[in-house]
Amino acid sequence: MSTPGHWKTASRLTQVGVGKDEATGAISYPIYPSATYRHPAVGESTGFDYTRSGNPTRQVLEDALAELEGGARACVFSSGMAALTTLFLHFRAGDHLIVSQDLYGGTYRVLAEVFDKLGLRASYVDTTDTAAITAAIEPDSRALLVETPGNPLLGVADLAALGETCRKHELLFVVDNTFLTPVLQRPFDFGADVVVHSATKYLGGHNDLCAGVLVAREEELGERLYFLQNSTGGILSPQDCWLLMRSLKTLSLRLERHCANALEVAQWLKAHPRVSAVYYPGLKDHPGHALSQRQTSGFGGMLSFRVDSRETARQVLKRLKLISFAESLGGVESLMTLPAVQTHGDIPEPERERLGICESLLRLSVGIEDADDIIADLEQALG
Ligand SMILES: *Cc1c(COP(=O)(O)O)cnc(C)c1O
Repeated sequence: MSTPGHWKTASRLTQVGVGKDEATGAISYPIYPSATYRHPAVGESTGFDYTRSGNPTRQVLEDALAELEGGARACVFSSGMAALTTLFLHFRAGDHLIVSQDLYGGTYRVLAEVFDKLGLRASYVDTTDTAAITAAIEPDSRALLVETPGNPLLGVADLAALGETCRKHELLFVVDNTFLTPVLQRPFDFGADVVVHSATKYLGGHNDLCAGVLVAREEELGERLYFLQNSTGGILSPQDCWLLMRSLKTLSLRLERHCANALEVAQWLKAHPRVSAVYYPGLKDHPGHALSQRQTSGFGGMLSFRVDSRETARQVLKRLKLISFAESLGGVESLMTLPAVQTHGDIPEPERERLGICESLLRLSVGIEDADDIIADLEQALG
């Protein structure tokens, strides 16, 4: 049974798993911890043989995620990095990737320190500049991996233009949709072939789960990604699949509050004398504001800002009370991080400086607390 096609996203999310366990009518789809399954006879299967290859709880979650993104097939992994690693295994030595330079630090690390040694090369380009991407294309280029908005500077890439570029040059178009989720941004509508998520972030949403997702638009590529996952084994446990399903039910509601709070906090920060820049696509003077309005249905809950010195940044992190100084993002609790030292610490310093990721730049994942309390905490911390 699949959810009716006319249901809007919030309804689909809330109904994840409902009606899938026909034997009992369970509203909350059960956790099937079984590692293996009895065969009725030789050559027969219930559809499940061994949990790495398939698990009922994972299946319901994967079907829901594929449907939410509008793709043919989804695979869920034990982390976002496991998902990305499996995707990179689709390529072979000698292949070349074009990747956003405003990128999650771990994605940079696995490409630069692991896959580069296996002969998979990557060029890092400003994906907010479509011409720069075209210029980076080489004869061996196979794919474009874009994060939009970028991390940590929230640059916005033109998905329609990039989709067109990829089609023309026969590049696989991969979008890391972690920051916005299918509720706010639907990369397949712009020609993406694969959507990636760190479900540790908004999809999970409570800072209590580590998971990753790949969704393929076409069945054939979906089969290939499934083959790679089954071969290498980075699956999500049935217990965590259930937790992620539970989290999805409130995703739409959570994002409404994340977006509203982030806009309020961004506007407040912008007026603060010790803040020299605020990066949030919802602000009218953000270079990607108009583009975001066209291609997303909300600006998300992530923002970054620059304070007047490295010392001020350190003072803020030390004084925070409601907001936690911690890595990660997308959870109900507000978190702040120092990208130059934390999330992007593996990017070589000259490269970080070139990108503008210096030690006075702070990244804030705006939670769903009362915005007044988030602002009051920032006010006392900035002092
Ligand atoms: C966190 C993150 C990842 C990595 O995901 P994990 O779940 O931490 O392995 C990849 N991409 C983006 C944009 C992220 O924020």
